[in-house]
Amino acid sequence: MPTPTRYAVIGHPIAHSLSPFIHALFAAQTGETITYEAIDGGGDDGGFERVLADFWAAGGCGANVTLPFKLRALQCADEASAEARAAGAANALRRVDGRVEAHNFDGAGLVRDLAAHGCALAGARVLLLGAGGAARGALLPLALAGAERIVVANRTAQRAQQLVQELAAHLPASVQLAACALGDVPGAFDVVVNATSASLDGAAPAVPAAAFAPQALAYDMVYGKGLTPFLALAQAAGARCADGLGMLVEQAAASFAWWRGVQPDAAAARAQVQQHLAQQGVAVL
Ligand code: NAP
Repeated sequence: MPTPTRYAVIGHPIAHSLSPFIHALFAAQTGETITYEAIDGGGDDGGFERVLADFWAAGGCGANVTLPFKLRALQCADEASAEARAAGAANALRRVDGRVEAHNFDGAGLVRDLAAHGCALAGARVLLLGAGGAARGALLPLALAGAERIVVANRTAQRAQQLVQELAAHLPASVQLAACALGDVPGAFDVVVNATSASLDGAAPAVPAAAFAPQALAYDMVYGKGLTPFLALAQAAGARCADGLGMLVEQAAASFAWWRGVQPDAAAARAQVQQHLAQQGVAVL
């Protein structure tokens, strides 16, 4: 029996994380010999860097990083992918020959899950709500997946403008890019992604119903909250609805493949995670 290779997710708080469950499913599917644990990165200022250094010193080979450490994870790396650099944050690290490489699979996870919901991004009009880390990580992958037009709308319009200005140079020139306040969203969109944290507070970003084109897909990055106020608003406007559980599973699958060189079955894992959550009484879509 080979010695298991050690992986982890580091965040704070971290007890709620589904990542150990998801990676155990991937290991069982693929026969890879790994361990995957949840590590609290600590609340104090120097905690995360120390915890990460200890993890590498103890033989850790790869880590996912979640809130609130994604920016600091990028700063701990020797090399970073284009996605991580554009996002200004990393959600996956690996150690190769003593050097730490950073990647950000959140956006790729979103794009893959949109595809799993039958959403073709090529030529699509996309409305991205929010201008925090999640929106920042999604912008480049959405553009590279072929979106024709991307409008970033945020409660604080200035942050949306700043995000678009910073990332414009990273995006294909063919993408029509704009930024605005939530109430000023221009026209209708095929895909509306809620990358705000409003759903965690039981609120909806104040986006006009006219923003949802006929047959639009409304996607809330938050999961485990059932039909969030944003999704309820979208449903009332005639849109199809999806939550962010598939994004979580897809970014985990991309991390696993990056570490192990083996692609797990994300769709099968997603169904098992959904069943697991339902058994615990968590609201799933
Ligand atoms: P963040 O950096 O804190 O940004 C929060 C964003 O939400 C800001 O744009 C903020 O607007 C906006 N916002 C907060 N409350 C709002 C409200 N009541 N109405 C309108 N806008 C509001 O957070 P983040 O890291 O980007 O994460 C955003 C969400 O994505 C979180 O809920 C997170 O759980 C989720 N997420 C999911 C996955 C997944 O795998 N499914 C991955 C990453 C993130 P202002 O700028 O005006 O403050």
